[in-house]
Amino acid sequence: MSDKTEGLIRAVYRKWKKSHFREADAHPDEETFACFLEGRLSTEESECLKAHLAVCDDCAGIYALSLNAEAAELEEVPRELLDKARAALSLKDKPSALEAFLRLKENILEIIKANGDILLGQELVPAALLRSREIKDFKDEVIILKDFQDIRLEVKIENKGGKYFNVMLQAKHKQAPYILKDLRVTLIKDDLELESYLSDTGMVSFEHILLGKYRLEITSLENRLASVILDVKA
Ligand SMILES: [Zn+2]
Repeated sequence: MSDKTEGLIRAVYRKWKKSHFREADAHPDEETFACFLEGRLSTEESECLKAHLAVCDDCAGIYALSLNAEAAELEEVPRELLDKARAALSLKDKPSALEAFLRLKENILEIIKANGDILLGQELVPAALLRSREIKDFKDEVIILKDFQDIRLEVKIENKGGKYFNVMLQAKHKQAPYILKDLRVTLIKDDLELESYLSDTGMVSFEHILLGKYRLEITSLENRLASVILDVKA
């Protein structure tokens, strides 16, 4: 990338961050963006960023502008430019990942951002509503639901004293409550497989996970079903 282009991207980033971002934590920072555009991120990080671009119009806007420098002066990026940019990343389709940014305190679990629906006791709070209602503090566990093509994924995250967390993942068929057999879930960090389990009950859990950024790959008999990106901070 030329210095001129990089300077432009950084300037656009700063301008947009000021006017568009409310929850700064959940968006990739300027450095990550620059590295992504230069192809210097790991596969893991780059997958995370792509998943974020699929659901965040603000960040997709920055990406769109990086592809189309003439538009850099615009206040809002036109929808067609966003669509084009996502198409360039093959993100036209629905988001392929459940993405959740969380923060653990002693006995509180806070959702910074999630693109799935939240199960609040008996009540299902849609992702869109979660944002406007600003519900973010939970006792010590939270259940996030997300539908992918044929499956419904239920991810339960438990806070373990603010230092560790547990993840319980359940996959069902969307139409009928059939349990998915031969379900494999792999926990990945920095492109390294940490744990991988095959389940006949549609349910897999990982315990005592240290804070950090993870990807869970969900497959069924060699077919990739979905990914879950979890970024859990203190
Ligand atoms: Zn964003």
